Amino acid sequence: MPETVLAAVLTAPRTPLELREYPVPDLPSGAALLRTAYSEVCGTDVHLWYGRLTGVPYPIIPGHVSAGVLDRVRGPLAALDGSRPREGDRVVFFDVHRTCGRCRACTVSRTPTRCVSRRVYGITDSADEGLFGGWAEAIYLEPGVAIATLPDRVGFEDYIGAGCGLITAVHILDRAALRHGDRVVVQGTGAVGLSVIALARLAGASRVFAIGAPEDRLALARRMGADAVMNLQSSSVEERREQVLESTDRDGVDVVVEAAGSARAVEEGLGLVRDGGAYVIAGHYTDAGPSAINVHHQINRKHLDVRGCWGSEPGHFLRAVRILERHAATVPWREIGARTYGLEELNDALADAEAMKIVKALVKP
Ligand SMILES: [Zn+2]
Ligand SMILES: [Zn+2]
Repeated sequence: MPETVLAAVLTAPRTPLELREYPVPDLPSGAALLRTAYSEVCGTDVHLWYGRLTGVPYPIIPGHVSAGVLDRVRGPLAALDGSRPREGDRVVFFDVHRTCGRCRACTVSRTPTRCVSRRVYGITDSADEGLFGGWAEAIYLEPGVAIATLPDRVGFEDYIGAGCGLITAVHILDRAALRHGDRVVVQGTGAVGLSVIALARLAGASRVFAIGAPEDRLALARRMGADAVMNLQSSSVEERREQVLESTDRDGVDVVVEAAGSARAVEEGLGLVRDGGAYVIAGHYTDAGPSAINVHHQINRKHLDVRGCWGSEPGHFLRAVRILERHAATVPWREIGARTYGLEELNDALADAEAMKIVKALVKP
């Protein structure tokens, strides 16, 4: 690797990305430098470009989920999967780091994804501190970052096609407490929704409905495991509700997962769950505004479980790798990463992602 590293930097919201050169960092003991094979452009990056997330220390190098080859390693690395990765190995890492293990969230509430010290590569790490994002030729893996060796049978394109969406979906499935035979509605056919569809199918759901748009995403939703798809743009709320009721003995489904990020989706989703069912809200990663719900009719009288789902933990990351090792050959995660962009093309990638021309752009620095 040369002595400088090229990175795409978002200096402030709503400004074009800038290419900057960084020196190769000195590595303290336990650190490593990852030569980036792939990173991704996901919905979060569009939010970052607009400045919709709070506490983002611009300038940043975006790209929170990435994969690559270890270029330099200082001291032995201990991976989460028990392996001891060396230079030349293909590895992936968990973007969340510095979760403290001591604060109230970590210890009392047992909600480490709400830890006050928690930082995330490509989102809450400033580019002034170094190579903390995947839209760069190399990524600095600081000591303590959770890494895993990418299994031989998992291609970089499988891992990054699944990306943050699959890791989030593993957490969502935990929150959904899905049982074999359950019927499920997934609202949203972006990267998260598509992975939820696949995992619900693998977890034994007897019927999976997907609500989304546009049509090519619905086609992919079918290939990911959806039995029925409903186009958000060409059907009404009433029509979709009728279709769900018709196929569930007029009962509604056991679990609805919101992965749409729309306040209207919540209003609709509560009407699709059966009495005593569960509604998992995972798409409201930024403030999508208030939803108008009738608590008596839609929650209390229905005896509903409503659960939020925020971020993910190292276990979700490691299980995502294992899921890919077992299932990437048959579930088309790699198709989610529809198009690949170089570092100098990332302004186009953001525009394409926002226009929903693609589910996810891959970044190949
Ligand atoms: Zn903490
Ligand atoms: Zn993401």
